[in-house]
Amino acid sequence: MKIFQCSACDFPVFFENTSCESCDSVLGYLDSENEMFARKPEDLNWVIDGETYTNCKNEPLGICNWLVPITSETGFCKSCHLNRTIPDVSIPKLHERLQNMEIAKHRLIYTLERLGLPVVSQFENAENGLFFDFLSKGDRNVDGDKVMTGHANGVVTILLAEADDVNREQMRVSLNEKYRTVIGHFRHEVGHYYWDVIFRNNDTFLADFRKLFGDESESYADALKAHYANGAPKDWKSRFISEYASAHPWEDWAETWAHYLHILDTMETAFYFGLEGDPNLRNSPHMRVVSLYPYNEDLSFKTILEETTPLFYAVNSINRSMGITDVYPFVISDKVKEKLEFIHEILQRFKAESNLY
Ligand SMILES: [Zn+2]
Ligand SMILES: [Zn+2]
Ligand SMILES: [Zn+2]
Repeated sequence: MKIFQCSACDFPVFFENTSCESCDSVLGYLDSENEMFARKPEDLNWVIDGETYTNCKNEPLGICNWLVPITSETGFCKSCHLNRTIPDVSIPKLHERLQNMEIAKHRLIYTLERLGLPVVSQFENAENGLFFDFLSKGDRNVDGDKVMTGHANGVVTILLAEADDVNREQMRVSLNEKYRTVIGHFRHEVGHYYWDVIFRNNDTFLADFRKLFGDESESYADALKAHYANGAPKDWKSRFISEYASAHPWEDWAETWAHYLHILDTMETAFYFGLEGDPNLRNSPHMRVVSLYPYNEDLSFKTILEETTPLFYAVNSINRSMGITDVYPFVISDKVKEKLEFIHEILQRFKAESNLY
């Protein structure tokens, strides 16, 4: 993610900040400009290029600092307009979990906008739009079924317990996963949604997908059952980014897609910080750290991947200095590289051909 600055005093601020520590301005993020805008505390609204903006309707919940035009009919920003169900925020525990969820979700939407992907609520497009349901274990979804984290027909369901660190860590250990984060869930689940958007109505794209990821028309329920009964194939590391990715081509896509977003966002952050380095190593010129702006359309993903290895080596080493786990604890095999490159390429093709929205 880029480094934002207060528009009044240029102080660097985080994406989530609602005020400037340096000049006390009130801050709001305008996604169409990808900038953080300041207003004086005594002013009611923001005036940006002659237009008047106000806070998203979710601002009082402490879950959103985005701006909307004062004329907005819904009053919700692009990210919050995707929410169909949020928990009862009068319960402090659920409110806190929603806040943690929304930090990750807003960051997800930021990345999707950098990628130039359609981000449309089902409120606006019932057929092709996206919804989020934030639910608790024991809740029922709108069809009366028990809920799990997952995606179906444009609706991403996220169990709020995943926003609880202890809970999530217990799940991570019990499932023997190397990495389990809230943003990881969002990136994975939205991958299923974009799979539908990209492949459902395009036989050419689908044929290319199957060549690399396999036939997704095989029974999903049976495949998952078999995965949980037998585990991943012994050679999964050479073909998949994670054990779970081996369960079914849809899960392979969603897992690989999540990594695609992990890599882009990390590389973008490195780029904005100007991270570069030429460690004085014997015979290892490939460990030179170069950070690139990853949303430059002329850039091949092969190039991004090449620069990713030294970058992750550097940040993993910094984490180890602090005694915490690697930021990116994965090894990308040649086959997975091919899948990541395919995602990059299919997005360009999709965007070139897309007339869905
Ligand atoms: Zn400031
Ligand atoms: Zn909002
Ligand atoms: Zn999945």
